Amino acid sequence: MEGIVIRSTGSRHMVRTAGGENFECILKGIFRIRGLKATNPITVGDSVDFELPRDKNTGIILNIKARRNYIIRKSTKLSKSVHILAANIDRAFVVATLAFPRTSTGFIDRFLVTAEAYKIPVTILFNKTDLYDKTLEKKHKELCALYEEIGYPCIGISALKGTNMERVRVAMKDKVSLMAGHSGVGKSAIINFLDPGLELKTGEISFYHRKGKHTTTFAEMHPLSFGGYIIDTPGIKEFGLVDFYREELTHYFPEMFCLLKDCQFHNCTHIHEPNCAVLKAVDEGRISPSRYTNYLNIFYDRELEEED
Ligand code: GDP
Ligand code: ZN
Repeated sequence: MEGIVIRSTGSRHMVRTAGGENFECILKGIFRIRGLKATNPITVGDSVDFELPRDKNTGIILNIKARRNYIIRKSTKLSKSVHILAANIDRAFVVATLAFPRTSTGFIDRFLVTAEAYKIPVTILFNKTDLYDKTLEKKHKELCALYEEIGYPCIGISALKGTNMERVRVAMKDKVSLMAGHSGVGKSAIINFLDPGLELKTGEISFYHRKGKHTTTFAEMHPLSFGGYIIDTPGIKEFGLVDFYREELTHYFPEMFCLLKDCQFHNCTHIHEPNCAVLKAVDEGRISPSRYTNYLNIFYDRELEEED
């Protein structure tokens, strides 16, 4: 049989088949991903083959299929081994708003960089558009144009009024989705609107910015009534902490990366180098000032600055 791991706690793994049946399974033998020292061999989102021995309630996982992507958390600060939080994520939805609590482009860009590093496509949801006035409306249009140009779909929504929520449902249908965003931005409201039957109490979903608690609990995937899953993982708040070399940062800004070949130096950081195609594009307004500023802030590991 085939299924997808929807819950994984130590040695017990809940596997759900395409038909919607759940089987508790254990692992047989040792599984290792090459090059990754992980404390858990299997994770939420893994696609597996398993068998159900006659007269037994517990299945045996025989094979873990190759992962398209996965997100990790370091087991401890200094340790080299990692805990795999989830795998095979189809899309991340970063929830932002220009109303309250206003999301900075610094936050959005840092999230996008991490998702790029993990090879997870992102859609930006601008929520609470019902609160937008003319000024915010204009700013909203500018930001959508900016991010769509780079290749990130944007949807202006209101979880309160239901505006454009059908588009979100379509984007999540039959997919494994991860949702992130500051507390108070409307993640629970979005989920409750899309799938009232999920019965996650507001504030009970441990998304991106939930602090402190639940560091020992495990990730879970909630089946959506219209098809697909939403990942709920306590470690997502550390989503922004993927390790990469500074010099690689340009790889995770697609609009800069595509210009790198035109820079004089193949390892150009686009900061001080002569004949830099990115600096030229910034000067000519082809790369957004906010994106470039956030590039510098991430490069120098500066705190994200608030902006207007
Ligand atoms: P979460 O912390 O991201 O899960 O945010 P919540 O879903 O708990 O929402 C935080 C607050 O924002 C609640 O008071 C919601 O009623 C409100 N809210 C959520 N979505 C919208 C929206 O589209 N418009 C307005 N006006 N308020 C919203
Ligand atoms: Zn350059």
